[in-house]
Amino acid sequence: MSADPTRLVLLGSKGGPALRPGGPWPSSSLLEIGGRKIVVDCGLGVTRGLVDAGISLKALDLVFVTHLHSDHVLELGPLIHTAWTAGLATPVTVFGPPGTGHHWQRFCQAMEFDIEIRIADEGRPDIADMVSIVEFGEGRVMEERGLKVSALRVDHPPVTDCFALRFEHGAKSVVFSADTAFFPPLADFAKGADVLVHEAMLEDGIERLVAKTGNGARLREHLLASHSFAGEAGRIATDAGVGRLVLNHLIPADDPEIGEADWIVAVRKTWAGDLTIARDGLVVG
Ligand SMILES: [Zn+2]
Ligand SMILES: [Zn+2]
Repeated sequence: MSADPTRLVLLGSKGGPALRPGGPWPSSSLLEIGGRKIVVDCGLGVTRGLVDAGISLKALDLVFVTHLHSDHVLELGPLIHTAWTAGLATPVTVFGPPGTGHHWQRFCQAMEFDIEIRIADEGRPDIADMVSIVEFGEGRVMEERGLKVSALRVDHPPVTDCFALRFEHGAKSVVFSADTAFFPPLADFAKGADVLVHEAMLEDGIERLVAKTGNGARLREHLLASHSFAGEAGRIATDAGVGRLVLNHLIPADDPEIGEADWIVAVRKTWAGDLTIARDGLVVG
């Protein structure tokens, strides 16, 4: 068993793609487990977040994307491209749902001018040769040097290819819910995990958020059909018997009338164990 410490850094903790003054960044996390550095989701801000967490972009290794909503994938290409210009020396593998390869190829096409000129002018290796894309479905995603990753399709309509991820190494395990409505099978999938990172929404904030964003009923409908309330995340954590629940992908995340205490009150109705309310840059040891 490895003595390498397991460390989770919440780089971007808000749900949804909008940025607001003083607010947190969209979804991305860094998981260090079994000596590997793993990026989970690539919302806007992931590159800055990794650098601020002390990670050398040259060492970018494994990237997982749970689904192709922009708050999880918008900065995938820019992250890899920036790592490439920072001197990326080893290959990167990106695991994502069907469509991830297409997304990456189109990014490279959009950046064609810059990529070709840097290869010719600065003698860089071809970025295409340094990146492998692995599209996955439900079940085992990878197994390598003691690191096991598996996926569970969750309930995030209208997106059908959205996957919770379970990372295991030795006795350590960390599960990410991805974006999902209350989904009881997640409890089995997360059974006994050390940490469950679950998305969460707070009822009180939804109406104010909908008013601020400005497409009213449709946005409210999407949120209620596709995301979980904090109490529902707590229910999953309790049924799974996890060691710690991390509420993440917070909706709303930037409402001045909502603070950490409000999230705690909501989740304590269903979860009595160790608890973390995510914020950008927070380290869960
Ligand atoms: Zn999302
Ligand atoms: Zn989503």
